[in-house]
Amino acid sequence: MNAEIIAIGSELLLGETIDTNSAYLAQQLTAYGINVFRKSVVGDNEERIATAIAEVLDRADLVICTGGLGPTVDDVTREAVARAFGRSLEFHQYLLDQIEARFRAFGRTMSDTNRRQAYAPQGARIVENPKGTAPSFIVEDTRGTVVVLPGVPREMRYLWEHAIAPYLRNERGETSVILVRTLHAAGRGESVIGEIIADLMAQHNPTVGISAKQARYELRIGAKATSREAAEAMIDQVEATIRERLGDSLVGEEQINQTVLHLLQEHNLTLALHEGTNRAPVYRTLATVDNSTPLHCIEIHTPTISLDDNTVQEAAQVCATNVRERYNAAIGLGVQIATSSGADGFTTVAVAVVHGDNVRVWTQRFDLSLAEGWEFIGTLALDSLRKYILEVHPKG
Ligand code: ATP
Repeated sequence: MNAEIIAIGSELLLGETIDTNSAYLAQQLTAYGINVFRKSVVGDNEERIATAIAEVLDRADLVICTGGLGPTVDDVTREAVARAFGRSLEFHQYLLDQIEARFRAFGRTMSDTNRRQAYAPQGARIVENPKGTAPSFIVEDTRGTVVVLPGVPREMRYLWEHAIAPYLRNERGETSVILVRTLHAAGRGESVIGEIIADLMAQHNPTVGISAKQARYELRIGAKATSREAAEAMIDQVEATIRERLGDSLVGEEQINQTVLHLLQEHNLTLALHEGTNRAPVYRTLATVDNSTPLHCIEIHTPTISLDDNTVQEAAQVCATNVRERYNAAIGLGVQIATSSGADGFTTVAVAVVHGDNVRVWTQRFDLSLAEGWEFIGTLALDSLRKYILEVHPKG
């Protein structure tokens, strides 16, 4: 079974509300082994919603809609679904009684407009909503199945969990699982990594996808199988191939900042950090990790002399050495940026790791200004440190 999600609501199109319902539904459908091929957002317009549903029914077996079930005239999902199936709307007195009772329970009088919510397309299967006034429904047809859920996230999740997921599992026999594992990589460009694993990315099951985030790469391996164990085994195999091919560019299942902190802790290494830019890219990257850090101290100090592409390396080494000694840390990490950086859209950064007599220096030129590229610098510095620790403490 494959599915598409349609989120309904003009506020979603205008960007006023973030469409978190679709993300939730996509994760849930995936966990139930249902492939999600597309998500779309449509405003509160009956004709456009009906067209979107009809188009999706031509492609997918299952359409999950969320939103537009409220009592006001701009809540037109009921009408649109009926129109997409060429059915009329049917009134259900028991639904109206339930809605009225809900209002009474809150000491309020139901308004006439709520009557709209007691309608559903002819022949639809009603899913009662104990968490709100908008009942949900399912329409089954030879063209496919449309499930309609309310837009309020709390109600939508409740009905998914208590009614729709059991329906898919018990009545539609959706018992397979899709598992997704994310691996993190750094240190090589997205296109280089993409080339190395191109054959894996062309496979259909397991699937491999890559996305780039500021010089960090996420590789997602997804497998569909009849059991969790079988899906895990398929993913393990692909992971082993990726690890072998990417070598030390593969960071692992943790993000690079978590990995570096764990490596420092594991090897009892304390760290002193000097950043030659007040954007403090390394500290900001490390600070997002929520655990105790072996970071002894951080100095943020922009250089008082001008640094060119050659002297920036030396400056990084000097500041790494000094900060390490000053704060009595095992490792000094120094980051310096060439003074001319940004003027031509390029930024040159040097990273130095000083550990006893060991000194390593890396330089890189980014085609980004410092304002755009500071996260790249954080990643480069942490990746350099990670590689150094693995060099002196090889795994296994
Ligand atoms: P109800 O009748 O219970 O109000 P509804 O189906 O009419 O349900 P909407 O009126 O479309 O729901 O949306 C109600 C609220 O739910 C919105 O104002 C918004 O805050 C939230 N919401 C709607 N759709 C989404 C979505 N896709 N993602 C996140 N929040 C949403």
